[in-house]
Amino acid sequence: MDYLNGSILTKDGFIEGYVCVENNKISEIGSGKCPEIPIAEGIILPLMVNAHTHCADSNVKITPGMSIEELVAPPNGLKHQYLKNATDSELKESMKTYAKNSYANGIETFIDFREGGEKGCRLLREAVPDATILGRPVSPEYDSNEIDLILKTADGIGISSISDMDVNYIENIADQVRKAKKIFAIHVSERIREDIDTVLSMDPTFVVHMVEATDSDLLKCAEAEVPVAVCTTSNMYFKKIPPINRMIECGIDVAIGTDNAMLCGPDLRSEASVFSNVLVSQGGNSNYVWKAMINNGRKLLYHQSKIYLKVGMDANLSVMPCSNTHDLNNMLSDNRKIFRYEKTLKV
Ligand SMILES: [Zn+2]
Repeated sequence: MDYLNGSILTKDGFIEGYVCVENNKISEIGSGKCPEIPIAEGIILPLMVNAHTHCADSNVKITPGMSIEELVAPPNGLKHQYLKNATDSELKESMKTYAKNSYANGIETFIDFREGGEKGCRLLREAVPDATILGRPVSPEYDSNEIDLILKTADGIGISSISDMDVNYIENIADQVRKAKKIFAIHVSERIREDIDTVLSMDPTFVVHMVEATDSDLLKCAEAEVPVAVCTTSNMYFKKIPPINRMIECGIDVAIGTDNAMLCGPDLRSEASVFSNVLVSQGGNSNYVWKAMINNGRKLLYHQSKIYLKVGMDANLSVMPCSNTHDLNNMLSDNRKIFRYEKTLKV
């Protein structure tokens, strides 16, 4: 039996108390004093889902001041040249390192927009079996066989944007992904405002960025119940600020992603701190950061019962160090190592 002590995220919000783990399952969540000496103390949470990544490009050598187009736009942005020329083993090594760092940071899985067609998906699946992979086709025209092949390995499709590809092509992909009951996601309004009606007509599972979106775009997104993955550090690298508070006010479920590995490491706690600072500067409430960091990320992949800790669930959880668990936001600036408790790990 192992005990963890601190602030626990439950269905009713955070409670002060302890979690007991028995046979790799949560056997008790109690309020009040921990009955035994705990193996870890802090904020006790389900493992996180990183809502948006590109995990293979950490070795790209960026020249400061490059624009979004120069750096990441397909097919000739610096990142794509790198991915084309890198060896399979170099890419797999980068993916593995990224996953290792993610896991150490209390992340269960990351939702990766995987470049390189079916092969890119295969490399990631081999390197990181637990990654959530959204592949991207490479054929110049819609090819249902290619999409089928990608979906054999991938969990869905992640598209660059409606500005980079023929809209009919993307619509055909979206139809096929929906029929296969897999995830369809797309970057939207990162560099310039893009037509949200076109995007929403494709019924995406979620969209990424929405930096240049207007209030009416955000309201339409909220109405369609399409969550947004926000990547603040990445946007700020290109001197853009995501309208996080407006998204929340419009009623959108906002999740947090760390985007390109070359711009931002897989540390959701420090990314949440950047997110929170921007949110507060926009007049928002920093407490939303918890919802964004834990609930909304997990909601993209899991059903309601897996969003909070409860008795009976697998004890895959993290304990974030925090000197004052009554002041949860204090945790965001705590650099001590996150304690990860996982049923498959010997703790
Ligand atoms: Zn992206």
